Amino acid sequence: MSPSAERLDCEVAVIGCGFAGIGMGVELKRRGIDSFVILESASDVGGTWRDNTYPGVAVDIPSFTYSFSYAQNPAWSRVFARGNELKTYADLCTERFELRPHIRFSSRVREARFVDGHWRLQLGDAVLRARYVISATGLFTEPKLPAIAGLDSFAGQRIHSARWPAAAELRGQRVGIIGTGATSVQLVPALARQVAKLSVFQRTPPWVLPRLDAKLSKTFQALLRTAPPLQWAIRAGTSAGTEAVMVLAIVYQKQFPLLVRAIELIARAHLRAQVRDARTRAALTPRYGFGCNRPTFSNTYLSSFNRQNVVLETSGIAEVVPEGVVTRDGRTVALDTLICATGFKTYERGNLPTFEVHGREGELGAYWEANRFQAYQGASVPGFPNFFVMIGPYTATGSSWFSIVENQARHIARCLTHAGGRAIEVRPEAHARFFAGIQRRSKNSVFHNNGCAQSNSYYFDKHGDALFYRPASGFEAYLESHLSPLSDYQLL
Ligand code: NAP
Repeated sequence: MSPSAERLDCEVAVIGCGFAGIGMGVELKRRGIDSFVILESASDVGGTWRDNTYPGVAVDIPSFTYSFSYAQNPAWSRVFARGNELKTYADLCTERFELRPHIRFSSRVREARFVDGHWRLQLGDAVLRARYVISATGLFTEPKLPAIAGLDSFAGQRIHSARWPAAAELRGQRVGIIGTGATSVQLVPALARQVAKLSVFQRTPPWVLPRLDAKLSKTFQALLRTAPPLQWAIRAGTSAGTEAVMVLAIVYQKQFPLLVRAIELIARAHLRAQVRDARTRAALTPRYGFGCNRPTFSNTYLSSFNRQNVVLETSGIAEVVPEGVVTRDGRTVALDTLICATGFKTYERGNLPTFEVHGREGELGAYWEANRFQAYQGASVPGFPNFFVMIGPYTATGSSWFSIVENQARHIARCLTHAGGRAIEVRPEAHARFFAGIQRRSKNSVFHNNGCAQSNSYYFDKHGDALFYRPASGFEAYLESHLSPLSDYQLL
């Protein structure tokens, strides 16, 4: 049944206005689909770059690459731009592509339900009816606190890195930080310079690669503005380098084993060059292969451990008490502030997506729990007509988040154009074939070949599936987003 437009509030509802929602909005407009809203739970755009304002926040993929291909930015102040520049870039894209009239702020979707051929979105007390729904709620959306006994008993200031208080003042304090992922790698050097003592509670050491950063002068920015081909050439170079490290080495580990070994050698040499004390160096050395968890990039994280005021704590946390952290070897580390750089809910029910989705026969989170996370082209699931996920399982490939967003947006927009107002749903056999292909090709990746058992990586879900990466090159995913057969979908 195809409901008439009068019964709907809009044709398409996009949920979330981070870069995924922005990219989807741009693609819809480009295809002439103007009847859409972007529902955003917060009061501003920018998603993760709006929410993450901790000291030292910056991109760790070169900015020439970490941006939309169709909206390159000659104004980056550094090769690795700071977080606030990304937020400004989100604002600029929103204005440039005239998305603001489509955005409804402070609109948190609680539930989506497919009823009578359309989706009913529950927003607090209000209901919005849309023919198609696209979830763009991101992956690093819901901060995760560590499951540590006594965490709530801490008497000092407790901060999650993704909810940094604007007024936080840590100068001269005794600060503890739990976690050593990509966020902590940026936070530690920034905090080490201002606090009296910084205790870093490490469970799993990350792989840390050098960051080839540089300030970009006004003259260079002017050159980029006047010579767009130069901007494209630099982007091609930084994208190729990023894809070699972040994709080829990881998903084609069997084909390029020497690439992985070379990266590991570079990271070990970086560690040796940066850290003076041999015991600290040993403690900072990963005991699992490169690529099993998110690699990090920093020229100042490892050397922070040479400082007198920075202590690497590796004996594990027994509990948190009002005065600080009790380690497994029985010491109490007294703290004024405890920072949880403990990441986000990722591939788990309640985060992907952040609301309940009731399709023709059941709820999406329950479906994934029963059938493992899977989605055709990372976007569509049988039983959920007219519903798409932007950053679904097995979507990451290419050189940055933006290549993922552009590919996903293109695929979804093709589906909508193909459907032309009718209901569209992926065929179960195409969905099963896609997942079988993913599983087969995943066997070539580091996840099955590089000693990942010790990595504690969020890339793996509770079923043991490593479902962040698509086992494909960025170029292949790009081609597929243009050419995947729309006959894999049925029109209802
Ligand atoms: P994360 O990678 O999930 O790291 C969380 C850290 O907290 C890990 O070191 C983890 O240890 C530790 N942890 C969690 N629970 C713990 C517990 N109970 N006890 C002790 N340690 C605990 O989170 P993140 O660093 O916030 O990064 C999340 C993602 O955001 C990154 O992977 C990256 O994709 C993205 N990011 C990107 C940028 C960028 O520049 N583009 C910057 C920052 C972050 P285990 O490893 O042992 O679990």
